[in-house]
Amino acid sequence: MTKINKDIVIIGAGASGLMCAIEAGKRGRSVIILDHMEKSGKKIRASGGGRCNFTNIISEAGNYLSENPHFCKSALARFTPQDIINMAERHGIAYYEKEKGQLFCKKTSVEIVKMLHDECSRALVEIRLHCKVGNITKAELFSIVTDIGIMEAESLVIATGGLSYPELGATDVGYRIADKFGLTVTPLRPALVPLLWNGSDRKIFSELSGISINATASCGKRHFRGEVLFTHRGLSGPAILQISSYWMPGKEIVINLMPDIDICAHFMEKSKSRTELDNLISEFLPKSLSRKWCELNAPSRPMCSFSEKDYKAIANKIHNWTITPGGTEGYKKAEITCGGIDTDQLSSKTMEAKKVPGLFFIGEVVDVAGQLGGYNLQWAWSSGFAAGQYV
Ligand SMILES: Cc1cc2nc3c(=O)[nH]c(=O)nc-3n(C[C@H](O)[C@H](O)[C@H](O)COP(=O)(O)OP(=O)(O)OC[C@H]3O[C@@H](n4cnc5c(N)ncnc54)[C@H](O)[C@@H]3O)c2cc1C
Repeated sequence: MTKINKDIVIIGAGASGLMCAIEAGKRGRSVIILDHMEKSGKKIRASGGGRCNFTNIISEAGNYLSENPHFCKSALARFTPQDIINMAERHGIAYYEKEKGQLFCKKTSVEIVKMLHDECSRALVEIRLHCKVGNITKAELFSIVTDIGIMEAESLVIATGGLSYPELGATDVGYRIADKFGLTVTPLRPALVPLLWNGSDRKIFSELSGISINATASCGKRHFRGEVLFTHRGLSGPAILQISSYWMPGKEIVINLMPDIDICAHFMEKSKSRTELDNLISEFLPKSLSRKWCELNAPSRPMCSFSEKDYKAIANKIHNWTITPGGTEGYKKAEITCGGIDTDQLSSKTMEAKKVPGLFFIGEVVDVAGQLGGYNLQWAWSSGFAAGQYV
């Protein structure tokens, strides 16, 4: 079998792998990236609805979930949102801020992939697609069996991402490699994912599919404001995707259906009116939701027939609509995976495994998961850059 010698083998030609390769190549190291898909950066291409939300201007540790919330700080400080913005500007990529610091390409996410490819070419990085990776061993060098030959390298970088969206190339290989080298993986779960109704709620709410409201979704101490979308199977939209990362099976989520108004005050103003409750509520919520909500929580009557105590109780339910989701849509529809290679076992400066010199883990495969809004790609850039200085 052909033997290929390189300084560095990177498995995974996604966001973090490409960034790491660029940085290592710039240092004069010989780099090969292996990927089993027919195209590189498939998730980047699909990201941000095709416009790639490539960073968030303010990316801080608080925007990430990890068993060690401090782990991401060092890498984020060394390759910042401004650094990826500078790179995009050097490549003439036009971008705009959509909301809350989220930067998107004006044209297409393909521009980001092209930028990474151009940088890889300049740094003489070799990219091999459609490449199957088999057994990996380590003696003095790492030896990686592939269908294009046996690679030997001083450093091996695992940039294989999480489990979400298998159709875009996700596999569990990164976790298996970690396990093989004796590293632990924290519990994995789909995140930034639509939530499903439980059995009884599904019968009640599935007919509201298509409705969307601007609300606040909470789980424990976390809350997110944004669009909540009713689907046939459950709830989706940015506020729900955000809260899904903090939700665990069996837990409740609370939705404030009217975060901007004090509905009790409106009830009081109408205390002498014969306006029906559901008609009043539908001034603030879509009619079909308001009807359904009243049917279940407070059968509609003229406003003047309720007491002040009733108003308070109904208002409380509107501001704290509590549901227990039956589950999530799973990895097929999850934007990311929470959990990953235990950060206790990695250097936060270099991403190298403490007990396996030369073995590096970067990007989503590590137990660092960002909120919605460009934080996940920023982590991929920052962790790839960090490893790129040391591999
Ligand atoms: C639909 C969607 C939209 C998203 N939108 C955004 C967004 O707008 N902004 C944002 O910040 N984040 C977004 N994300 C998340 C973001 O894309 C990821 O967090 C990021 O790409 C992770 O980078 P990575 O390098 O760790 O992994 P990836 O980019 O997933 O790259 C992993 C690579 O490893 C390869 N690979 C996997 N298994 C093997 C194997 N066995 N052999 C060889 N190669 C293998 C894969 O083919 C892939 O190329 C989105 C995710 C999805 C699914």
